[in-house]
Amino acid sequence: MSEFSKLGLRPSVLSAIEAAGYKEPTPIQSQAIPPALEGRDVLGIAQTGTGKTASFVLPMVNALVQARAKARMPRSIVLAPTRELATQVAESFRTYSENSNLTMALLIGGVSLNDQLVLVDRGVDVLIATPGRLLDLFERGRLLLSNVKIVTVDEADRMLDMGFIPDIERIFQLTPFTRQTLFFSATMAPEIERLTNEFLSNPVRVEVTRRASVGENIAQKAVMFSPNKTSMTFKEKRALVRQVIQEHSKSITNCIIFCNRKVDVDVLLRSMLTHKIDCAAIHGDLSQHLRTEVLNNFRDGAKRFLIASDVAARGLDISNVSHVINFDVPPNPEDYIHRIGRTGRAGRQGTAITLVCPQDLKGLQAIESLAECKIVRENAVISSVTHTSKDQTAGGKRKNRRTSKSHLPNKKLPNTNDIATKTNEKEQIPVVGLGDHVPAFLKADF
Ligand code: AMP
Repeated sequence: MSEFSKLGLRPSVLSAIEAAGYKEPTPIQSQAIPPALEGRDVLGIAQTGTGKTASFVLPMVNALVQARAKARMPRSIVLAPTRELATQVAESFRTYSENSNLTMALLIGGVSLNDQLVLVDRGVDVLIATPGRLLDLFERGRLLLSNVKIVTVDEADRMLDMGFIPDIERIFQLTPFTRQTLFFSATMAPEIERLTNEFLSNPVRVEVTRRASVGENIAQKAVMFSPNKTSMTFKEKRALVRQVIQEHSKSITNCIIFCNRKVDVDVLLRSMLTHKIDCAAIHGDLSQHLRTEVLNNFRDGAKRFLIASDVAARGLDISNVSHVINFDVPPNPEDYIHRIGRTGRAGRQGTAITLVCPQDLKGLQAIESLAECKIVRENAVISSVTHTSKDQTAGGKRKNRRTSKSHLPNKKLPNTNDIATKTNEKEQIPVVGLGDHVPAFLKADF
């Protein structure tokens, strides 16, 4: 138990860590846990993948072990921006509190509240919630915040992106002034700086690896591609992505494919399903039930491919993603770092492949300069990808004479059937979405 035992955690917590299989604390854990155990406020600047969840859940469990909760009065609250992230924190809490006999309720939109309300009524030690749902219950008088000892805010920069900062401020104001505050954000935008200055009391500031760093265990490659016809770029890229998948088929355990636009996520999903590549998609507004189902299917390997937009997938901890494919070069280089950070987690090897058209070259260079690395370039094996019959027409029956007569190389794309399973019904296409209240501007296509 070497380094963990030096942090000052109780034996019951240490044995939960041992059961989780962790050998050494990550840098954020070594730096944040000791001051948190002393009761200090902590401002953690860290992104997902650094072990930050344990850095706030472990000291919280450690502190809560002694007393017990009263009815409707949680002793600590954890705020997360989306349902998925709140669910992940709840899973971590279950792992780290295994021997501690603490109670927890998860308050997120889109799921039936009754079971959770029974728990809250009885009294919980930890309440994990999205801000909107927590305030909703407070306003209905189902929750009292006057006994809260620890408030944790996770992924504050996403809270800012999603317009939740006023909710967080309100929750801070509703909890006792004497509370301990643990606050985590990947970046310190001015609005977040203001919030921490106002609501944290003399915090210990802990900063680990900037988001601009790319793990050395991620092999990065850019597939350079000149579309045959600019107007056909999207179609040709769909064929190219299938080819890339085919080429890496043996090593892909599972793979997230990122598109810049929501509408492209949908079109790519349909195209992949038409080509019998088993996949699902994350973006916009679907029921919590479907979102959970799709993510679970991807996590447990029932779905091998997940097509995603940036906002929907940021921060999700899916530990065994072997490949990330950037269908588009992201407009913001920082999003590239977020995207490829879905692979190569917890010390595993990962591969990130980016499709790059001539107009994306500047974007690629911006990424290289932010990440301070050179991404290996490789020309697409067929510089202009011909369209398969399935891509030309819905049923694949009509022939495109112009294409067959043209100067295009008449090389047929590999058949992707060997990576396929059965899902092919348009009606069943699962599309998953964001947290409970998504501001309208996020619904716009960028
Ligand atoms: P997080 O940054 O909290 O999303 O954690 C990222 C991943 O790292 C999760 O899958 C954790 O289970 C894992 N993890 C957290 N702490 C450790 C540790 N000390 N050693 C190994 N894995 C860890």
